[in-house]
Amino acid sequence: MTSNPSGPGPDPAAPGAGTQAPPPPLRALAAPVRGRLALAVGLQAVAALAGVVPFIAVSRIADRLTGGSPADGDALWPLVTAACAAGLLALACGTAAGALAHVADNDLQLALRRRLARHIGRLPLGRLTDRGTGEVKQAVRDDVSALHTLFAHTLLDLVALLTAPVLALGYLLTVDWRLALVAVLPLAAGVLLFRRAMSGAAAQMAEFGAALGRISSAAVEFAAGIAVFKSFGRGRKAHERFVGATEGFADFFSGWVRATLVSSTAAVLVVAPAVVLLLLTVVGAVLVTHDHMTGAELVPFLLLGPAVAAPMGAVGPRVQQIRAGQAAAVRVTALLDTPTVPESTTPTLPEGHHVSMRGVSFSYDGRTDVLRGVDLDLTPGTVTALVGPSGSGKSTLASLLPRFHDVTKGSVTLGGADLRDIPATELYRRVGFVLQDVRLLRASVTDNIRLGRPDATHEEVERCARAARIHDRVMALPDGYATELGGAVTLSGGEAQRLSIARALLADAPVLVLDEATAYADPHSEALIQDGLSALAAGRTLLVIAHRLSTIRSADRIVVLEDGHVTEQGRHDELLAAQGRYARLWEAQRSARPDPADAVPGTAGHAADDIREGSTR
Ligand code: ADP
Repeated sequence: MTSNPSGPGPDPAAPGAGTQAPPPPLRALAAPVRGRLALAVGLQAVAALAGVVPFIAVSRIADRLTGGSPADGDALWPLVTAACAAGLLALACGTAAGALAHVADNDLQLALRRRLARHIGRLPLGRLTDRGTGEVKQAVRDDVSALHTLFAHTLLDLVALLTAPVLALGYLLTVDWRLALVAVLPLAAGVLLFRRAMSGAAAQMAEFGAALGRISSAAVEFAAGIAVFKSFGRGRKAHERFVGATEGFADFFSGWVRATLVSSTAAVLVVAPAVVLLLLTVVGAVLVTHDHMTGAELVPFLLLGPAVAAPMGAVGPRVQQIRAGQAAAVRVTALLDTPTVPESTTPTLPEGHHVSMRGVSFSYDGRTDVLRGVDLDLTPGTVTALVGPSGSGKSTLASLLPRFHDVTKGSVTLGGADLRDIPATELYRRVGFVLQDVRLLRASVTDNIRLGRPDATHEEVERCARAARIHDRVMALPDGYATELGGAVTLSGGEAQRLSIARALLADAPVLVLDEATAYADPHSEALIQDGLSALAAGRTLLVIAHRLSTIRSADRIVVLEDGHVTEQGRHDELLAAQGRYARLWEAQRSARPDPADAVPGTAGHAADDIREGSTR
């Protein structure tokens, strides 16, 4: 919710909701530039104070002109000079404070972004899933910007807003303490009214957040389900929950606004400059007509009086910005505190490419093991297929090999070296992966393919693109291999997958983890992908996450995973003969969807045969 202190309505950020001292994360992040920020704050305070001086000088001049003798005219020049000098000082100090805060903030942002980039580069790959990348984007872009607003703008604004009224009030007290107290009345009334408007704000804010959450989840459901509902002629049904959630929110919010409308509107009105001026003029006129003060003494009240209460209305959004900055600092600190992949104290290079998993257990949350005591060997040049029900841990097990996560117990070795001891660049030269969720860079096709071998020639890139069956599609793009992806040009899921196969072909890692694509609407695209995979598989050690058993019939070893542990392993025929879990899975899939590949061997559905034989058709 954007706060709107100048208009009626509940404002969670208004004064009275309470300003807290910055929590440690904010202070810790600002530590490197604390000195400069403090100096900027000091300069801004001087600027704010100096900014009040011309008003004081003008009121003194008014006093002299109305009450003094003509000879006093000469005495005005020092006041004029003081006003000009103070005005210039205010300008100079304000500019210097702004510049200093911006320079400090710029250095802070640079240092913070560098720290984040270094840290993110050392996070386990498994942290950079969809959720993880959202978190990273939020920290690097949005949160660092929120900190910029706080350090470069809000801090100085607050200093100015709070300093000037203090000096103005102090001066007014020396002129006439009674009218000075009247000038404070709107501020006191405003604070009380805001407090009343904000009573119960915490509970209301919680409900506000919950109501917004309901809208957001109903919106996601609406967007995701609308096609299904419409295709069954039930378009209205799709938006019922969404409309319900928005109506619920509208009812809640109008109830909240109604309950606080009077006090919040009154709070805004009572500190409005026109209202304060009116009050001071009326009371001042009474005091002047009763000879309690002179007309000239009223002038400073008319000049400075509104400044005493006015900042209250402007403090609200600044408090909101402080809270946003605090929340950003907490998130940035949490990301910076996320454990990175530990550096090995005994770096080891693998000898050969035999993969061995021994007693491997893994847990995402430190409580439930999703893998338990897995032993597995991948002999060089063989295809091993992981099968099992959804959620049995296939993807998790495969993700251990490119070190997306480290095992909780046991070990994974490549060529006799524990993965944790193999330097990252050495590991990724040896272990490649092609996953379903292909990430393409916002870069040219060539650069996307060359990711694993930036020094590859154009001929090599093209050869791999041909083998991955993506070359023709690339040539149809506006600039061929130079086409920038991710902007105006995007590739379909199947095309992106073929491009990632070309990338893996070029990187030429001897061990490969392959998450077999589940389904492509377009059989032509699927056939092309299977062709690409066949090219990729030739001569490599392959670990395939198989979603359809028909494609891995001739794998060298099929490993059945259930509930995080291996329950069966062997070749297709052996497992069928054993009449165990695999045989039942096989039957279930066959009866659910007769596989055309069974009838016509060698068609696109028969990828595993192709994979094994290294056919590139
Ligand atoms: P499969 O590939 O066989 O479908 P997964 O390896 O994806 O199985 O999942 C195994 C279990 O681990 C499931 O219970 C799943 O909910 C859980 N899981 C998978 N990924 C994550 C993750 N990033 N964080 C927490 N739990 C996860």
